[in-house]
Amino acid sequence: MEKWNAFQRALKESIGDADFAHWIKPVRFVGFAGDSLILSVPNETFSQVLGETFLPALKAAAAAAYGRPYGIVFAKVEESPVKPAALPLPDTLNPAYTFDAFVIGESNQFAHAAARAVAENPAKAYNPLFVYGGTGLGKTHLMQAIGNHCVRQSGMRVLYVTVDSFYTDMVNSLKNQKLMEFRQTYRSADLILLDDVQFLTGKKTTQDELFHLFNLLHEARKQIVLASDHLPRDINELQERLRSRFEGGLLADIQPPGLEMKVAIVKKKAEQDGNPMPDDVCLFIARNVRSNVRDLEGLYRRIVAYASFTNQAVSLACAQEALQRVLDVESTMLTPKEILRTVAHYYGLKVQDLKSKNSAKTYSFPRQVCMWMIKRLTHLSYPEIGKLFGNKHHSTVIYSVEKIEEIRQKNGEVKKALDELMEQFQ
Ligand code: ADP
Ligand code: MG
Repeated sequence: MEKWNAFQRALKESIGDADFAHWIKPVRFVGFAGDSLILSVPNETFSQVLGETFLPALKAAAAAAYGRPYGIVFAKVEESPVKPAALPLPDTLNPAYTFDAFVIGESNQFAHAAARAVAENPAKAYNPLFVYGGTGLGKTHLMQAIGNHCVRQSGMRVLYVTVDSFYTDMVNSLKNQKLMEFRQTYRSADLILLDDVQFLTGKKTTQDELFHLFNLLHEARKQIVLASDHLPRDINELQERLRSRFEGGLLADIQPPGLEMKVAIVKKKAEQDGNPMPDDVCLFIARNVRSNVRDLEGLYRRIVAYASFTNQAVSLACAQEALQRVLDVESTMLTPKEILRTVAHYYGLKVQDLKSKNSAKTYSFPRQVCMWMIKRLTHLSYPEIGKLFGNKHHSTVIYSVEKIEEIRQKNGEVKKALDELMEQFQ
C-alpha cells in the first residue's frame, strides 16, 4: 500500500491536481500480472483516457514507486452498467427553434450557413462550431435548430446544456456521488450543444471537466457546438487548452440585424402566429427596437396582446397606443425635417434645394430619395409628403417613391447608398 501511495504521489506531481482528482482518484490497485500492474477503472472511458493520455505518466510513476518498469493493464472491475438517462437532462430543446423559423439576413448568414452544414454533416463539416455574438441575436435559436434537425433527421442523441446547468449538474452529482453517471450522460451524446460558454470564466473545475468531455467527444467524432457572447480569446480566465480547442473548428459570428431584417423577423413571427401584421406596424416595431431580436419579439407580443385586450385589429394607431406608456413614441419617431436634413447632407445639398422646384437631376434624384425615405420612416400620407415639397401633387410623390424603390431593387450602387442612409436612422 505504501508503494501504491508513492505511485499516486508521483502521478499527482506529474499530471497535476485536477487531472489526478478527475482521472486517478477512482482508480484502484488490483495486483500484478507478470510485468504488468493491474489497475481497476470504473468504465471504458477511463481505460480509454488513461491509455491515450496518461500512459507515459502512469508508467513513469510505477517505475518510480515500485523500483522497476511495469506495463499497465486496465481492468473494468465494477461492471455496473450505467444508464445515461439516470440523471434528468439539464435542459431541453425548444421545438420552435428550427431553421425554418430562423430569418436569414446579412448579419447572420455566415453563422446560419455554418449551422446548416453542421446539421447536415455532423462531426464532418466543422467541429467544434463556435457561434458568438451579442445577447438576443439568435445564438441559442441557431444551435438548437441544429439539435432539432439532428433529432428529427437521424434520431441522434442530442444534449443541450448551458454552462450554468452543466456546472450545477456536476456539483450535484459530486454531492450525491453520482459523478460517474454524470460523466456517462454527457459522454454518451452524439451531439452536444453547450450554451453561454462565457460563463466558464474562472470556473476551474468545470473547465477541467469540460476539457475531458470535449476531448472524448471530439475523438469519438461526436459533434460539438458552442455559443458565447464573446470570442474564446475574450473570455476571461479561460484555460488556454480550452481556448485553443474552441478555436480549433469554425468561429462564426452573429451581428445585430439591420432595419430590413428586423422588419422581416417581425413579419415572420406574425405569420407563424397566424396573424399577419401590416407592414407599417412591422416597421414601427423594428424602428423602436435597437438591435436585439429578443426585445423585438417582446414589443411585438405586447402589441398583439394590447390589440386583443382592447378588441381591435392590429394597426399602427393601436401599436402606438400599446407602447405609449413604455416608450416615448413621439421622441423616437423621425420627423420629416430630420430626414430632409440627413438626405441633403448626404448628397451635399441644402434642405432648400430638396424643397425647391429645380428639376435638374442633381436635385430631383435626391428629392425623390427623400420622399421615399419619408414614406418609409414616418406615417405621413402621400399628400402630406407632397406638401413638404412645395405642394406637389400626391401622384408625383407616389411616382417618385415607386421609382426609387424600383431603382433600388435593380441597381446595387443605389441600394448601397440607400442602405447607408437608412443606417443613419437606426
Ligand atoms: P441569444 O442566444 O443570442 O441571446 P436567442 O437565440 O435566445 O438569442 O434569440 C432571442 C429570440 O430572438 C428568440 O426567441 C429567437 O427565436 C429570436 N431570434 C433571434 N434571431 C432570429 C432570427 N434570425 N429569426 C427569427 N427569430 C430570431
Ligand atoms: Mg442564448
